[in-house]
Amino acid sequence: MNTVLVVFVVLLVLKLGTSIVLDMLNLRHAQARTSEVPESFRDFIDLPTYQKSIAYTTAKTRFGIVSDLYDAGVLAVVLLWGILACFYQLFSSWFGYGIWGQALVLFLVGLVLSLPSMPFDYWSTFKLEERFGFNKSTRKLWLVDKMKGTLLGFAIGYPLLALLIFLVTWAGPLWWVWGFSVFFLFQLVMVVAYPMFIMPLFNKLEPMQDGDLKTRLFALADRTGFQAQTILVLDGSKRSGHSNAFFSGFGRFRRIVLYDTLIEQMEPEELEAVLAHEIGHYKLGHIPKMMIMAAITSFGMFAVLGWLTNADWFVQAFYFDTPPEGQIVIVPVLLLFMLLSGLVTFWLSPLSSRLSRKHEYEADAFARDAMGSDQPLSKALRKLHKENLSNLTPHPVYSSFHYSHPTLVERETAMRAD
Ligand SMILES: [Zn+2]
Repeated sequence: MNTVLVVFVVLLVLKLGTSIVLDMLNLRHAQARTSEVPESFRDFIDLPTYQKSIAYTTAKTRFGIVSDLYDAGVLAVVLLWGILACFYQLFSSWFGYGIWGQALVLFLVGLVLSLPSMPFDYWSTFKLEERFGFNKSTRKLWLVDKMKGTLLGFAIGYPLLALLIFLVTWAGPLWWVWGFSVFFLFQLVMVVAYPMFIMPLFNKLEPMQDGDLKTRLFALADRTGFQAQTILVLDGSKRSGHSNAFFSGFGRFRRIVLYDTLIEQMEPEELEAVLAHEIGHYKLGHIPKMMIMAAITSFGMFAVLGWLTNADWFVQAFYFDTPPEGQIVIVPVLLLFMLLSGLVTFWLSPLSSRLSRKHEYEADAFARDAMGSDQPLSKALRKLHKENLSNLTPHPVYSSFHYSHPTLVERETAMRAD
């Protein structure tokens, strides 16, 4: 076995091991006390619901561990047995080594590699979520979603991949700088295009209906300096009982999306607080800040890609043939990068989670000030945790590694503190 494969196996085992240890820690922590509700949660959650939230955390964690083991196994088999190289060579012999042919090969290999995880996706929706009463999707809708997603991925991905391959042949050794620029522009466009054009392909997104609630929310938006026409309601209940709200876009293209499930669960005052939190994300410039972070990350990734394109040993280690003179080598590199980058970026997730949590604290403080009290948002968050059966007692190490939002206790404490 060559050195590159040994490094791959070590990284894979380290990631899998760390992930499972964190899961087990978190699970034990959640299961530590099931006979009574901890003191700080007693006034909003009853014992049966609390126990149900622990059962949900347990089921999700176990499912996560099994699917992580399975994914790692599939990845190891695909790479160590040279299956990836086989697929690449087979598809290339069909579609050729030109720009459009190679883009198609890349898309198709990616599609084939996504198939092994399909049963887990199905199980998660129709067994796990179903058992806890969250699933509202049907088998037909699930299948239609998959097909729509694939077609959309093809419509957007195919020309983009072809452009990337073209850049390699056209721009020479510094192609990756161009690749990064194209990719970054694409990300900018997607921040705006996603809620405007892509979400409506899967969900109904409508302006709020007239009424008392709309008047109250629009008044709050005016007060905090957010143009209110862009508050939309999404029919999340079509697929899941989980509730949510989010902010997207920037400038004239800003959008706040509230799930219909959220509107159903909350009192008007609580919804105002959630809206104020989302407006906080907008007013405090969180999207541009995240975009800058994403740009720095993808610049680094493209630099690595640029370096790997010139490293024959890398693709050869995974059983790819040496490409004949004058042929494009980028697709094997892109395929391997797609499969392997997670082994490295996994270790960066505490950093990005931390930045995201910082933004959540800031948006919470904004909402508290806009509402004149920490109570409305606090009540809304408690309800969100209860309705979504969120884990109320995650292990601190687990939450600091994985959580994009601070825990309920952390958020309430922070809102009271400053
Ligand atoms: Zn937030």
